[in-house]
Amino acid sequence: QASIQLKNLTKEYVTHEGTGTFLAVDHINVDIASGQFVTLLGPSGCGKTTTLRMIAGFEGISDGEILLDGVRINELTPDKRDSSMVFQSYALFPHYDVFDNVGYGLVNKKMDKKTIETKVMNMLDLVGLKGMEHRMPNQLSGGQQQRVALARALVMEPAVLLFDEPLSNLDAKLRVYMRTEIRKIQQRIGITSVYVTHDQSEAMALSDKVIIMNGGKIEQVGSPTEIYQYP
Ligand code: ADP
Ligand code: ADP
Repeated sequence: QASIQLKNLTKEYVTHEGTGTFLAVDHINVDIASGQFVTLLGPSGCGKTTTLRMIAGFEGISDGEILLDGVRINELTPDKRDSSMVFQSYALFPHYDVFDNVGYGLVNKKMDKKTIETKVMNMLDLVGLKGMEHRMPNQLSGGQQQRVALARALVMEPAVLLFDEPLSNLDAKLRVYMRTEIRKIQQRIGITSVYVTHDQSEAMALSDKVIIMNGGKIEQVGSPTEIYQYP
């Protein structure tokens, strides 16, 4: 659990022709309090994913700063940033069962078997997958696969959880159900979360704070009720 500040955060891409540059994210300033659930909302191409990937460290920063609890993290590699990302494509390991998918990061950290087992089982319980630890990913529904992805991110106990349109591969009904689940889990553990979506109702249902982006800039910031009062 940590606060996040983006100061004049900027991403400039060189255009495909190599003749010019393009500002995908244009000097944005964002304040996210510890434990807050914030969504980045806006149309395709407005710079949401690029912003998220800069926070995660998957994407270089052209200008500006990212602060985690007041400490600059620009230069840190993704594994040092104390954040975990949940992807749209669940990116599960197809040949690992649920248990091994969730425990993967802990095994990498060389944690002992007993600790891994406790942590993984607690996490499967939290996301509602108790009893499914030996299923393979292809034996799970889309919603269940997304729960595994969520458990895999959470088991590392990051300070920050990042979501890149995690529900867009699910059907409409499941999408509504899963967003409630995500919010419940987030509130239970109080983890700071940044969630990218182009779906307005999803942003409204999930967030403490909605940040509306357009053309690489921030257009509006507010609580769901504040945002709703604008035309
Ligand atoms: P969003 O997530 O809001 O759909 P993105 O952050 O993915 O938007 O992209 C913002 C803009 O940056 C888009 O116009 C996109 O085409 C452009 N862009 C994204 N990645 C690259 C890249 N690797 N090279 C050049 N332009 C890119
Ligand atoms: P879009 O935002 O256009 O729907 P994706 O979300 O599939 O596209 O991917 C956006 C970016 O995230 C791409 O640069 C892709 O390479 C990267 N990406 C997607 N999934 C993963 C993953 N599991 N690990 C690392 N990078 C990923």
